[in-house]
Amino acid sequence: MTSLWPQIEPVLAHVAKPARYIGCEDGALPPGPLTGRVSWLLIYPDAYEVGLPNQGLQILYEILNERDDARAERAYSPWGDMETEMRRRGIPLFSLESHHPAGDFDILAFNLSAELVYTNLLNSLDLAGVPVRAERRGEEHPLVVAGGHCTFNPEPLADFVDLFVIGDGEEVVGELTEAVRDWKAAPRTAGSRTNLLRHLSTVPGVYVPSCYRVEYDGPRLVAVTPRYPETPARVEKRTIADLGAWPYPKQQLVPLTEVVHDRLNIEIFRGCTRGCRFCQAGMITRPVRERPQEQVLEMAKAGLARTGYDEISLTSLSSADYSGIAPTVTSIIEDPACHGQVSLSLPSLRVDAFTVGVASQIQKVRRTGLTFAPEAGTWRMRQVINKLIREEDLYGAVESAFSQGWRRVKLYFLTGLPTETDEDTLGIAELARTCAAIGKQHHRGASITASVGGFVPKPQTPFQWFGQSTVEMLAHRVGLLRQATKTDKGVQLRWHDPRASLAEGIASRGDRRIGAVVEEVWRKGGTFQEWSEHFDLDLWTGAMEAQGLSVDWYVHRHRDRDEVLPWAHISAGLHEDFLWQEWQDALAAAVTEDCRWTPCYDCGACTGYGLEHVVASNVPPAGGSQGTGQDLSRGAEVPVHLRPRIPAGARQ
Ligand code: SF4
Repeated sequence: MTSLWPQIEPVLAHVAKPARYIGCEDGALPPGPLTGRVSWLLIYPDAYEVGLPNQGLQILYEILNERDDARAERAYSPWGDMETEMRRRGIPLFSLESHHPAGDFDILAFNLSAELVYTNLLNSLDLAGVPVRAERRGEEHPLVVAGGHCTFNPEPLADFVDLFVIGDGEEVVGELTEAVRDWKAAPRTAGSRTNLLRHLSTVPGVYVPSCYRVEYDGPRLVAVTPRYPETPARVEKRTIADLGAWPYPKQQLVPLTEVVHDRLNIEIFRGCTRGCRFCQAGMITRPVRERPQEQVLEMAKAGLARTGYDEISLTSLSSADYSGIAPTVTSIIEDPACHGQVSLSLPSLRVDAFTVGVASQIQKVRRTGLTFAPEAGTWRMRQVINKLIREEDLYGAVESAFSQGWRRVKLYFLTGLPTETDEDTLGIAELARTCAAIGKQHHRGASITASVGGFVPKPQTPFQWFGQSTVEMLAHRVGLLRQATKTDKGVQLRWHDPRASLAEGIASRGDRRIGAVVEEVWRKGGTFQEWSEHFDLDLWTGAMEAQGLSVDWYVHRHRDRDEVLPWAHISAGLHEDFLWQEWQDALAAAVTEDCRWTPCYDCGACTGYGLEHVVASNVPPAGGSQGTGQDLSRGAEVPVHLRPRIPAGARQ
């Protein structure tokens, strides 16, 4: 088992940011042999500075390395200059800790958090010297595993990945380690890899694509069915019930070079019940599981003492919804161990004055900018997407922010949403303009940045049946906004490239046939497609054409209720009835309240698993909105359409 360091070191003088390839971060495992344990290479298929802070990867890295029978190292996608040198000199993909060749590991495990990294997964396998297609791998090759949010539709990568982990990985990585440990101990015979995969297909939360048969009728998918009697017809996601039992990472990695989110990150809860209909993360991570407040404080103190960071981010999908957010913030700021000099950040702010109050408590010094996400420009549109922010909520939050010293507020919006009209789009400009006017009352230089992304419908959400807007339509809407804001000095408009939304749309709701498209894009050089300087839509549309697949069919077509969706055999725990009802309600602009503070309406996320929301403090956040239920009681002049509730356990 050799280290490739003697070959790697001379290359580093010729590439940008060599720190990407050396490891040695504080918190990293020292170099060591891979023998005698099940060896995992955890790969984030994007640049080091994007992948290093990923909490999911760091959590599994520690959990595996605490085991006696496993060793986990890490790798990231080498940037283009490094890849060129590696291919020229015959250096394969390597791990950062020991610089072992990736092909020497038992398991190559990828974290998939965005569809446009799919081609980087193929490139990583190729750089590792591992056949990119699963069917060409033999007994001597590593197992290729993938986890992360994108696995809730695994089909576009089904031809390349041996097995997917659906849902939380904390427990399942141990089960996989034990199965592979036993497999390694047994004689390696022809067919033993297939037998291992058949066995792994019975592990809850594990999806092995080669154990399923796919049938089509022309362009339509007819069925995805198990090949073997022991393989389940539907793979249910894994959910850890108690986040407090998993206080990871305990040894957050501290990089030697600049990375995104370079601060102490503490996950305060998992899951979200606000019910935004476009949000895949909110749907697939239910139910809410909060980390105990005292554990958050302990992790903050220990993490600061160890890392030397002076900034903590309390992460989640909606951090101000943490039931103990105010006392937790106060306890961190006032704790002597935090030296009174720590700056805190809440990455996902709720739109209300209470949240701004919390933000003002934690950003006493650097009031650079605040970000809110109203997502749509009109109340009607926000009812459709179930993002129940009233204009007065937004204006109140913005007023509060500017009056407390902030100079810049950023607003996130989506365009191309179901039922959206030009009037809804122009509502974005109106909201931004009014917010800027509020800001000008406090500072002459106050500004609003309106950031607009093209909506891509995601699997396992109520909008999974919606036909995505075309590039032309998205460009038209961006054009409307550019025109509407061009004379507003206080409003800066930013927009996401609509062409990238189309490529994301191809990959996000594709079936297994899209795998050939991903492969062709990669073979034609299409890596780092998340990066605007590398993104090339022609590669995607050209590959669709070459495979005889219609962009319109895969991306822009509305789906029927009875259509077999490519991810129908993967369960995020949500009843299909619930998702369909939510889609119908969206079309009628009827809203669904946050079940965290109101009775359960049986979406399936808790009832199917015998779980309940785990809330650290059983009182709603003090001093402000306790969620959508209370929000809805205000502003009675605006009609709110609520539908009758379906009680817990009523759906099957
Ligand atoms: S099962 Fe009920 S309580 Fe749990 S997330 Fe769904 S609606 Fe909310």
